[in-house]
Amino acid sequence: MPNVLVLPGDGIGQEITPEAVKVLEAVLKGRSTSLNFEYGLIGGTAIDEAGKALPDETLAAAQAADAVLMGSVGGPKWDTLPAPQRPELGGLLAIRKALSLYANIRPVKMLPMLVESSTLRAEVVKNVDLVVLRELTGGLYFGEKGRGINPNSAFDTLVYSEEEIRRIVEMGFQMAAKRRGKLCSVDKANVLESSRFWREITVEIAKKYPEVELTHMYVDNAAMQLVRWPEQFDVIVTENMFGDILTDLASMLMGSIGMISSASLNGTKGLYEPAHGSAPDIAGKNLANPLATILSGALMLRYSFGLEEEAQMIERAVERVLQEGYRTPDLAKPGEKVLGTREMGTAVVEALSR
Ligand code: NAD
Repeated sequence: MPNVLVLPGDGIGQEITPEAVKVLEAVLKGRSTSLNFEYGLIGGTAIDEAGKALPDETLAAAQAADAVLMGSVGGPKWDTLPAPQRPELGGLLAIRKALSLYANIRPVKMLPMLVESSTLRAEVVKNVDLVVLRELTGGLYFGEKGRGINPNSAFDTLVYSEEEIRRIVEMGFQMAAKRRGKLCSVDKANVLESSRFWREITVEIAKKYPEVELTHMYVDNAAMQLVRWPEQFDVIVTENMFGDILTDLASMLMGSIGMISSASLNGTKGLYEPAHGSAPDIAGKNLANPLATILSGALMLRYSFGLEEEAQMIERAVERVLQEGYRTPDLAKPGEKVLGTREMGTAVVEALSR
């Protein structure tokens, strides 16, 4: 039986991951594949209980598992620690790096019943159906960094190897070929040498995929186009930091970051987590939207276990619940039926059998 390591993490991570496990157990009940869930510590909770953000036992369990389902990490309690020890760098970035999860996939597809929840006008967002593919283990976040080479200064380094660029861009072409055949590579080639290198390699790879239309866009323009005319995009491929920023921007097209799932992959080995953080402002209040984590569970079934039918069952159940007018507070408009975190998880489980 495949093993899934569940890492609830901090803040709302503790509330949303149980709902995703509940839905996964329900969808697999009576079917040929079942999953064995094990639990571990990561983030601030791990610092408090085991002395560091990514304890050795967690890393070993993650390496042994077939997939990892994560909540979120971080919070004000740990913000004053030196950066490498903090939940984000010492926990999340460290596990991504240790598992060599180089590809982060974030689908952003507008559901008709959520069009009105977006902060953008309905005609701008109603046809959005895009995927942002973000390189996850290179670039500024992992380059050499430090202080004091010159007095009162700090530096971060943006380095990309050819191999790092090649594997993510290839994935972008393959993904675009299976969708609407459009790949937009986002860079800052007018300023950055690493972007010019990225572009050269992308143009060369494009020759293998004549069926895919390749465009290039500077990241500042991409940010503007994502709010101006987002339906022009099919697959966006980009480096780590640009992807970090653009994925949050793209998430808001949907009305709430609480709806955006993500998969971070190295082959079929994957870490699945919502795109949002630990939301300390609403943690422990049963207010968090668990749907991004539940939809991340669907991505896990699809990408790690090849269970496409079950993945779609979860996605349809989420749509059904929303279609019936149920919302968590982040999505609710006046007059809609508001559910708490647990109640939303239960509603999705019930919708699976309808
Ligand atoms: P955040 O995503 O946690 O919260 C931003 C806003 O969105 C908040 O108002 C929050 O209440 C709301 N929100 C987020 N998720 C929600 C959900 N599921 N349902 C309803 N509302 C939701 O971002 P932040 O406030 O910048 O960061 C808080 C902490 O999370 C920080 O410590 C940060 O470093 C960390 N963080 C972790 C991850 C991760 O674990 N992948 C990602 C981003 C931020």
